[in-house]
Amino acid sequence: MFISFEGIDGSGKSTQARRLAEHLRALGREVVLTREPGGSPGAEEIRALVLRGDPDRWSAETEILLFTAARRDHLERTILPALAAGKVVICDRFADSTRMYQGLSRGDLRGIVDQLHALMIGREPDLTILIDMDPALGLARAKGRGGVEERFEDFGAGLQEQMRAGFLALAGEFPDRFRVIDGGRAVDEVAQDVAELAARERL
Ligand code: C5P
Repeated sequence: MFISFEGIDGSGKSTQARRLAEHLRALGREVVLTREPGGSPGAEEIRALVLRGDPDRWSAETEILLFTAARRDHLERTILPALAAGKVVICDRFADSTRMYQGLSRGDLRGIVDQLHALMIGREPDLTILIDMDPALGLARAKGRGGVEERFEDFGAGLQEQMRAGFLALAGEFPDRFRVIDGGRAVDEVAQDVAELAARERL
């Protein structure tokens, strides 16, 4: 079973991904918790190339290629071997983040993202949990975290609003695999919802 978590910055998806991993492990499941961009040694190197330093270093198109290259490595080295071994893979962001961040935020490049995805990745999660959150709250949380060197955390509220709407639209586009959870509540309440969802989905 391959599960991804998606959401805007500060939505709490990383915390919820970790909480679900802990919950499933407590139930005796073998879980690989991973993240994008990154999740394999090569993909983590690409993450550093893209997320650190000059934000204008790469064009949007080059960035799509880099994220797709990272995803391919992550899939080959981490995700597919774990799934083949019967483990649950929980991934903090996957291709839907590229559909949003590269496909939407820097112009309408979704077509390029989807074509490259079909050519080089060709795999969607079995289940995608969207942690939906008011961007004002998400931004406050992301900033409050502090110590984050990544440039994307500087997204303004307008862009976060666009990303939120985009993620919700994506959930409507792929209703079979998307489930939307209200992330604007206490962490434990959201985690409880996610655990109930996992039970319903027979994870
Ligand atoms: O999920 P995480 O906080 O680790 O993501 C790091 C940053 O990279 C985020 O600020 C996110 O907005 C950005 N990102 C991106 N494009 C992706 C994935 C993440 O711009 N495909």
